[in-house]
Amino acid sequence: MSDPTKLVQNPPRGPIEPVRLGLDDVIQFHCRPGIACWNECCRSIDIQLTPYDVLRLSRRLGVPTWQFLAEYAVQFDLDPHGMPGIKLKPVEGGTACRFLREEGCGVYEDRPAACRYYALGAMGLRKMGTSEVEDIYFLVKEPHCLGHREPRRITIREYRREQGVEKYDEMNREWRDIVLKKRSSGPTVGAPSERSFDLFFMASYDLDSFRLFTQSEGFREMFDLPEAELKRLEEDDEALLAFAMRFLKQVLFGERTIPLRPGARERRLAQRKAQIEARLKAEAERRQDHDPRYDEPDEDEGKGKSD
Ligand code: SF4
Ligand code: SF4
Repeated sequence: MSDPTKLVQNPPRGPIEPVRLGLDDVIQFHCRPGIACWNECCRSIDIQLTPYDVLRLSRRLGVPTWQFLAEYAVQFDLDPHGMPGIKLKPVEGGTACRFLREEGCGVYEDRPAACRYYALGAMGLRKMGTSEVEDIYFLVKEPHCLGHREPRRITIREYRREQGVEKYDEMNREWRDIVLKKRSSGPTVGAPSERSFDLFFMASYDLDSFRLFTQSEGFREMFDLPEAELKRLEEDDEALLAFAMRFLKQVLFGERTIPLRPGARERRLAQRKAQIEARLKAEAERRQDHDPRYDEPDEDEGKGKSD
């Protein structure tokens, strides 16, 4: 199954019908148990995961997000600067999905958005010169998929509802727009720092680490949030994901989406400066310890050739 929900501005390559579809357009497609190609689409996967996919799957498996990422995901670059994306890791030494069972998907109720959309493709297209993102749809016709030969006709609107993608789109929309905005800002704003990509990774995918971060002393010293909101972030996954998007806009675009405590930025800069100075000093001392020019002279040293 190739991922039909690419977050790209250029149409993805692959067996795509070059027809742009809208919500009220009708497609002919039906995937049902008993069809001759049952499970074929899950035997060779290339599925990009979204923040809400990670949240749903990690909760389904009963593991923290960092464990899910270590065991079930592989990282790739979303753009030439190295903005991190993640994909579902296939079975060891193979291409099939690790959740595939004889009877079908082993995580069906929590399957990723890309699996829900298939064989419908969806793409966010940023309109030239605006911040508006338009959703467009198209059909993906892979030769092994016999669902296109089934007689059922259905509108895209109905298909999205049937497959439960509406909730996924709602939870991922802001993130998708952040990624598109970051990509389209291109070289004009320069390459983002490694630190900003680390924060992007944590806030996008590793929500359990992000939760710990929001409960840390450093975070509370920096951001001015009411106790009730902090409590909500501690207890409510979806509220935390929504807050993570506010945080990303602040980190990546400098938007003032979260109020800062007075003097917090200056204190943080002073702390950073002190940390860097301490690190440089320690490094200089370490080098000095290993630099032979500073070694204690041994017994023979200093004796002239005439000795
Ligand atoms: S998560 Fe489920 S539907 Fe998606 S590829 Fe795996 S087995 Fe197939
Ligand atoms: S009809 Fe298509 S989507 Fe359904 S099981 Fe067959 S290959 Fe997969």
